[in-house]
Amino acid sequence: MKRAIVIDIEGTVGSIAFVRTVLFPYAQKALPDWIARHGTEPETRRWLTVMADELRAADRPSDDAAVLAALQRYIEEDRKHTALKALQGLLWEDGYRQGLYRAHVYPDAVAALRSWHADGHRLYVYSSGSVAAQRLFFDHTEHGSLLSLFSGFFDTEIGGKREPASYQRIAAQLDLGPSAQHPLFCSDVLEELDAARSADFETLLVDRPQDHPPRTDSRGHRRVTSLAELVL
Ligand SMILES: [Mg+2]
Repeated sequence: MKRAIVIDIEGTVGSIAFVRTVLFPYAQKALPDWIARHGTEPETRRWLTVMADELRAADRPSDDAAVLAALQRYIEEDRKHTALKALQGLLWEDGYRQGLYRAHVYPDAVAALRSWHADGHRLYVYSSGSVAAQRLFFDHTEHGSLLSLFSGFFDTEIGGKREPASYQRIAAQLDLGPSAQHPLFCSDVLEELDAARSADFETLLVDRPQDHPPRTDSRGHRRVTSLAELVL
């Protein structure tokens, strides 16, 4: 039976450390130079203008230096701001293209994703990173491009990852036949799995020792420590 499988990225197929210690610090460090070199180009200027308008509306300085300071503060506060996400996407794309880093994906996850795809299962991503960032991630992994394995990508535009309604909206967009099994959601976060289960997903806790202390109570979710253990 062909299934729809929805995966989280950080802590599920790739290490949390790659995003936290490589991608985010790179964007923070490269941002000033990026604004200096690309600030007049339309794609970058568009988001700087969004930021400047917001600062102006709050009666604050809104020149490029003030915009940069606000963006740096948002990065430190881990704010999910649309302009910041878009600019980070541009910076990350540039970094991937220059070969400054490649996305980390656990070898067992690469093998599992390839074999599920080869068996005809349909794979989807649901991550808090933007769809653009997700596509960059899977297009530039340590194992080459894995982009073609996926049938679709969802980010928090569809709703928060701990809200059952988000999973209901995702299920409605999956290519599920009338007699299809429940879709499967794989994540390292119990609250996300609880929400998915409320929306009639099957759930899998991916409890990697590299990313988390082992969860002794998986709240009834099936638990594995690597995707090599999963039999569909
Ligand atoms: Mg995760």
